[in-house]
Amino acid sequence: MFKYTGNIEKIKDAVEMANYKTLCADIVEDVKDSVDYDMSNVNTEYLSAEILMRFDADIMNVEIYYPRYRYSSAMGYYSKSKPNTIHINGYKINSIHIYELVSLLWHEFCHYVDYKLPDGYYANHGSNSSKGKAYTFQYSVNRYVYSYFDYKKETNTYYIPWYKKVLRWFKWMISKLESLL
Ligand SMILES: [Zn+2]
Repeated sequence: MFKYTGNIEKIKDAVEMANYKTLCADIVEDVKDSVDYDMSNVNTEYLSAEILMRFDADIMNVEIYYPRYRYSSAMGYYSKSKPNTIHINGYKINSIHIYELVSLLWHEFCHYVDYKLPDGYYANHGSNSSKGKAYTFQYSVNRYVYSYFDYKKETNTYYIPWYKKVLRWFKWMISKLESLL
């Protein structure tokens, strides 16, 4: 499960969505049905069981960081030095879609799943460049998350209360004004 104790509304919402049991079940099915991933030596049935087990038993803490270089293009990262933490670039939160955040959380969680595999096994896209890696474990899971929200929109309507929308609009306006100063 994903856990966030901060007070950024959009992150709270993304974490709540990332924790949907039906989303997890969908991803597990998609992984199980997939052909073996690129840059992996683990079969997908084993990986799908690992996902389910880690999702149920382990906690992934979501933390926001602000990179020294304000315009860094990274949306977030995962580091084995803090294996149970997902880092999200605080400067990116306003500009990316909530589904992208959910997808990012799952991508980084799958780095954790890889980290926990027994010695000698891996399912990991390696360096940060995403080029040519669409069929690796983590990038495939990104796709599954998007398709979940596209195809099941009706049954999983994501509801944002009107006052949150107004508040977000004001925050967005303020950030625009600030950028003009
Ligand atoms: Zn990655």
